Amino acid sequence: MGAFSLSSEPLEPSRDRAALEDPSAGGYASFEGWVRDHNEGRTVRRLEYEAYESLAVSEGDRIVAEAVARFGVTRATCVHRVGSLGIGELAVWVGVSAAHRGEAFAACRYIIDEVKHRLPIWKKEHYTDGDSGWVNCERCAAAAPAPAAAAHDYSRQIALPEVGAAGQARLAAASVLVVGAGGLGVPVLQYLAAAGVGRIGIVDGDVVEASNLHRQPLYGWADVGRPKAAVAAERLRALNHDVRVEAFEVHASAGTLDEMVAHHDLVVECTDNFRAKFLVSDAVVRAMKPAVFASVHQYEGQVQVYRPLPHWPCLRCLWPEAPRDGLVGNCAEAGVLGPVPATLGALQAMQALKRLLGLDAGETPALVTVDLLSLETRRLAARRDPACDHDHPGSAAPPDETPLELEFKTLAQAFESGLELVDIREAWERAHDPPGLQITAHLPLSELVNGRAEFPADGRYLVICAHGVRSLALTEQLRSVGRAEVYSLRGGLAALRS
Ligand SMILES: [Zn+2]
Repeated sequence: MGAFSLSSEPLEPSRDRAALEDPSAGGYASFEGWVRDHNEGRTVRRLEYEAYESLAVSEGDRIVAEAVARFGVTRATCVHRVGSLGIGELAVWVGVSAAHRGEAFAACRYIIDEVKHRLPIWKKEHYTDGDSGWVNCERCAAAAPAPAAAAHDYSRQIALPEVGAAGQARLAAASVLVVGAGGLGVPVLQYLAAAGVGRIGIVDGDVVEASNLHRQPLYGWADVGRPKAAVAAERLRALNHDVRVEAFEVHASAGTLDEMVAHHDLVVECTDNFRAKFLVSDAVVRAMKPAVFASVHQYEGQVQVYRPLPHWPCLRCLWPEAPRDGLVGNCAEAGVLGPVPATLGALQAMQALKRLLGLDAGETPALVTVDLLSLETRRLAARRDPACDHDHPGSAAPPDETPLELEFKTLAQAFESGLELVDIREAWERAHDPPGLQITAHLPLSELVNGRAEFPADGRYLVICAHGVRSLALTEQLRSVGRAEVYSLRGGLAALRS
């Protein structure tokens, strides 16, 4: 067992205490944190702790090692409970043995304070009348009250009728994970923190380099060599005391991302390499979380939003063959002017705020490209690739959980949502159709029924008939044989025209 550990079982301090005994130690100090029955005036019944385990353990080990080095104590240990705890249960235990009592007390206090502030551990309190939702323990720590400062002023954004006090409250309740704190990440972090997004997680395993400063002006000369995530977290806290900021000094990997993504409402992907972008895309598709992607190449950039809806494409839908890093130059090789990633990052921040505020109703999947030399912007409709073998929502859902019928105002709208349109009306019914009806295939129901035609095996289809009765029957039949991705146009063509 390391100096710091997490335990899903009730803590046994006597065992941990025995491990601290040392003939050279003249003193021992310990701290026990218990679950109490009230908080902020509400009656607590029980609580749950959830940790981002690998990071919590490595950071916990670091804190204990710091305490040992700083106060010159003999040995120190800290154990934190995770899982469900009842009132009076031991939540955290710290033990320190030292030559003298003074160091023992000081090291013990240091460990408990740092653990409260630095560990990625979330707490949910269950009250007699509901629960707190997951909150980072830092918020509960009374040890370090925020410096006295004027309240952050949101008046200029609250003035927007689409935002208002309700929108501001939504932002305060929201959490965003920003992966990459470089050229794209810096403006994203600054604008989201300034706007009052309640909790921001920063993932970046790099240190600040001198060559970053021209496009990442959140950092300064004095920061060169320091971890980007930690420096960015400091700056954001100074910018807005309302925001809880967590720094994850790691490189994105499949394992670490899943856990971090699970603890946030939305992800903004700001790395400069395709490997990380695809890892983030896979993680948000698995977790069914919305995400905003962007990339930059010299004077151009592009932005794409992912939403966990059946017809929204992920990154792999658009680039089934993942581009190899090095094939497309990153900033290090290709060169970049600072305002290019800054523009794209600002667009990402805007897309993120729109999602959090619910201002993106009616937005359809698209890839937006921006050319900063010509100032041309293009919006290309992006479509879900039915062959994309990732766990898109709907693709793994049991048939009875997916709606049989979908409603659309126009066929173009249905088409834009990534569905192939199959018209099952008979030939004579189509004789008087208006020209230019956007249909993928005509498969008359009579031919399907008598086996002269076959419904395509793969893909996502919207089945269309005159009034939505035959299409519903066929959809039900196809679902019964395991086709999850077939829908019926509710009300048929008649509903569109009316
Ligand atoms: Zn996909």
